[in-house]
Amino acid sequence: MADIIDGKALAEDVVAKVKVETATLAKSDVTPGLAVVIVGEDPASQVYVASKSRRAKECGFHSVQHSLPVETSEHALVSLVEDLNADPAIHGILVQLPLPEHIDETRIIQAIDPEKDVDGFHFINVGRLGTGALDSAFVPCTPAGAMLMLERVRGKDLSGLSAVVIGRSNIVGKPMANLLLAANATVTIAHSRTKDLPALARTADILVAAVGRPEMIRGDWVKLGATVIDVGINRIPAPEKGEGKTRLVGDVAFAEAKESAGAITPVPGGVGPMTIAMLMANTLTSAFRTAGLEPPAF
Ligand code: NAD
Repeated sequence: MADIIDGKALAEDVVAKVKVETATLAKSDVTPGLAVVIVGEDPASQVYVASKSRRAKECGFHSVQHSLPVETSEHALVSLVEDLNADPAIHGILVQLPLPEHIDETRIIQAIDPEKDVDGFHFINVGRLGTGALDSAFVPCTPAGAMLMLERVRGKDLSGLSAVVIGRSNIVGKPMANLLLAANATVTIAHSRTKDLPALARTADILVAAVGRPEMIRGDWVKLGATVIDVGINRIPAPEKGEGKTRLVGDVAFAEAKESAGAITPVPGGVGPMTIAMLMANTLTSAFRTAGLEPPAF
């Protein structure tokens, strides 16, 4: 039976450290500043943005939220990003995705100053991560959080271990694979065109699922003793809770997989809470770097 890796508790540890280090920075008269920008009324995005702003305040940050109407032009959004780039009180800029269709997401992300790109999506930060320049990169928050969870079980050096990442998105799969590689794992990236995924998954000492398909990864895909990191967040009907009710599940069939895994992250309460915690950590890191100080390690 697997150990359950508690993402809520680990996220609280990260946030507690951010608070302590924010107080340390205050002695140098620096307050980490995070600007969160949202365009439109997407309900899920509104919830995410509100929790990001709330967490930032809780950490003692200067927290700014820009809520723009859905008809905001690309030009106006670029102008806002440029203003935030130039604002010395802001160390982190996060533009909530997805953006409305008339706005080119790539153009907006590339307009963010790479030194304030706390989401880690700018080409410069992708390149830094890809070349192993982790000291200067901003690493995307979800894979950064997943790595921290993995470290708790396997340590920082994954030499000799095989890792399979299912999913090749720019937000999760690819950066996760790069982080695993930087930690010396032998990494395979699987995706929708991969042949015999169950057999490949069974070779993994570390199995990361970032697919977006409820409980696709079955128990018999999991090698005995493997560490399973389930990034997926899927809402499915839960008639057992009453008519019209839903519940969240991961990409991994948790009840089955925990029988063979050595350690596994649950959904909810696994990778999910880590994402916002790592956003706080990235913003703090940015403030330390701007002040010419060595950022704390997480
Ligand atoms: P995405 O849709 O961008 O990418 C999904 C990937 O899965 C693709 O690379 C695709 O090739 C692969 N895939 C699809 N079907 C497959 C199949 N049948 N077999 C193998 N591979 C398949 O999604 P994403 O943004 O990477 O997110 C993945 C999951 O992680 C989603 O459930 C999302 O909600 C969740 N997520 C969670 C957090 C968080 O914890 N905070 C953050 C981001 C994403």
